[in-house]
Amino acid sequence: MAPRDGVRCWVCGRTVEEVRASVGSTATEMTEVDRNMAKVVDARAKFVQEATVWWDTVPDQFKNMDFNFVMGNPTQFKSIRFIDEVQDARKTHVEALGEAAYLGRKGKEFSIGEFKVDAGDAKRRDVVTRELDEFERKTGRVLERRRSGGDDKEVGDATRPRSFDGFKLGEGLRYLREAGTLYYYVQQKLLELDKEEEKRKAPTYEIGMAKIKGIPKAVPLCTVCENLIKGL
Ligand SMILES: [Zn+2]
Repeated sequence: MAPRDGVRCWVCGRTVEEVRASVGSTATEMTEVDRNMAKVVDARAKFVQEATVWWDTVPDQFKNMDFNFVMGNPTQFKSIRFIDEVQDARKTHVEALGEAAYLGRKGKEFSIGEFKVDAGDAKRRDVVTRELDEFERKTGRVLERRRSGGDDKEVGDATRPRSFDGFKLGEGLRYLREAGTLYYYVQQKLLELDKEEEKRKAPTYEIGMAKIKGIPKAVPLCTVCENLIKGL
């Protein structure tokens, strides 16, 4: 039975509003999830900025050349200073997404950046694979995958081009920016799930009727006092 409004805890004498106000400070503290979210948002902004610089600084006459050809001949295209950076981003972002898509669709454990999704975690896996499916559908391309040996059998539509195949340099840079943004976006989606769970697990502060040892009748007791007494 819930006590009526304005009732005070039998032990500390506070109303439920006063109890909540007293613990409120801890509820606004930055958690690990919040810190990770801030990091991901920051990294995403930096990446977009970087990708914009690539696009803006590549000489126009090169934009129509074959992406893979230019990337494969960095000494030839010395005037493009960011080939290494683009190759790195391709590996860490696009190939990482491809690997996640591959493992996720097979129901195996995978990682996106620093975040691991367990094989048994269907909820997170679905959130990620849905975004990757959507991206592949939108671009009409299959995400590139790191070939780390082992089971190399491909899943997904083999008739579609793979990631950068056939792209002109300009198109490839645009694709890289979109895939890179997605790489951070799915991390944000995972962190949003973590945040929801964190909120659900956070203790709620109430005043309820409870029996205390040695007191014959149930008394109103706040969550804080209840936990204290339980700990005695
Ligand atoms: Zn109390």
